[in-house]
Amino acid sequence: MIAVETVSIKNLYRHVGEEVTLQGWLYNLRSSGKIFFLIIRDGSGIVQGVLVKKETSTETWEKAKQLTQESSLRVRGVVREEPRSPGGFEIQLTDLEIIGIAEPYPISLKEHGVDFLAERRHLWIRTPRQSAILRIRAGIEHASRVFFHERDFILADAPIITPAACEGTTTLFEIDYHGEKAFLSQSGQLYNEANAMALGRMYCFGPTFRAEKSKTRRHLMEFWMLEAEAAFFDFEDNMRLQEDLVYHIVSHVLQHHRADLDILKRDIGRLEAIKLPFPRISYTDAVELLNSKGIEFKWGDDFGAPDETAISDHFDSPVFVHHFPVGIKAFYFKPDPDNPEVVLGADLLAPEGYGEIIGGGQRLDDLKLLEQRIEEHGLPQEAFEWYVDLRRYGTVPHSGFGLGIERTVSWLCGIEHIRETIPFPRTLYRIYP
Ligand code: ATP
Ligand code: MG
Repeated sequence: MIAVETVSIKNLYRHVGEEVTLQGWLYNLRSSGKIFFLIIRDGSGIVQGVLVKKETSTETWEKAKQLTQESSLRVRGVVREEPRSPGGFEIQLTDLEIIGIAEPYPISLKEHGVDFLAERRHLWIRTPRQSAILRIRAGIEHASRVFFHERDFILADAPIITPAACEGTTTLFEIDYHGEKAFLSQSGQLYNEANAMALGRMYCFGPTFRAEKSKTRRHLMEFWMLEAEAAFFDFEDNMRLQEDLVYHIVSHVLQHHRADLDILKRDIGRLEAIKLPFPRISYTDAVELLNSKGIEFKWGDDFGAPDETAISDHFDSPVFVHHFPVGIKAFYFKPDPDNPEVVLGADLLAPEGYGEIIGGGQRLDDLKLLEQRIEEHGLPQEAFEWYVDLRRYGTVPHSGFGLGIERTVSWLCGIEHIRETIPFPRTLYRIYP
């Protein structure tokens, strides 16, 4: 029996020349008759174990022969640097213990179709590419929390079950709340504003739900949003906070996830090219830019994915598009005092055509105007009484934003479809597994 003081594959570099114990799963097995090459994964990385027949006991050799893809095992061996191996290390195996022999594994090393894989998402996440994406996702979440903590933003969790729609009911999932209608939250925003009046600077991080009827590469029904709200922050402060956050996230991923980016074959140069401050372009100038490229677009319309790509293609860094027409933004945006046809809102578009990753802006802080907007938008006054209270009792200029985690993961990982950015995606046609 092998002692259970184990190391993880990601930390093998600290144990070169030492004998260590690893536990994980067999990803692949090759044999030359005299040598077994075991590719082992443990969730933190992948390493090749080498078992030489003449240097090993018959018993261990026989055990290796039984191994199948995804069998669980514990091995012992000496760590060597080996630049040609995945991860840069190799283990000269001295002992092997089988934990569980796997039945014939449905996901082989050849290419599979997306539906086949999606149906087996619980197994698909074990592949090196998917695990790399999930590790980067965790890195982005970690970096975000550290960022806000260091700037004295207080984490205040928003409710998931809500009595009213934040921005209309068209994309809401309705639930039965003890006989009453309630909805799954599509944004923590309104509650964040209340929390910001209590805490000054706050953020929340949680799942949000949108019954999006269109099938795109960028929309999930359930996604995670990182939202911040700060009292006394104006529109400019808000954009500076966002660019600092995004820059911090990109730097963190570049610094701590090189191996994962390599697995994904991400063009790192594009991420390294990102510079502060991020460029800014007004909605009106963006419309002109589109028209000058021969793309038909009318002032007052909302950008579609191809429009966003055409705009972001002009810049190496993420770009803010700001001062949108009042008509295409939610009721709570503050109009520009110099031009009330547009609002103090900005979206941040990722480079390389990954589209909008943040929506945000300065909020309406005037009581009368807010009441008027709620009416114009046909929203139920009673349901928003508590929200309007925030303007009755010590109103201040304040701003905030929401960053979609999955969109950010897609962009940083350089992946085509948002369904690979979360362990168990909820898409228009799939809720299993
Ligand atoms: P889009 O126009 O792309 O649908 P939106 O304007 O509805 O986005 P916001 O309401 O501003 O987006 O939400 C903030 C952020 O949440 C977006 O910038 C995006 O990163 C993310 N997001 C919005 N909807 C989805 C979705 N269905 N799936 C994944 N992420 C989303
Ligand atoms: Mg949307």
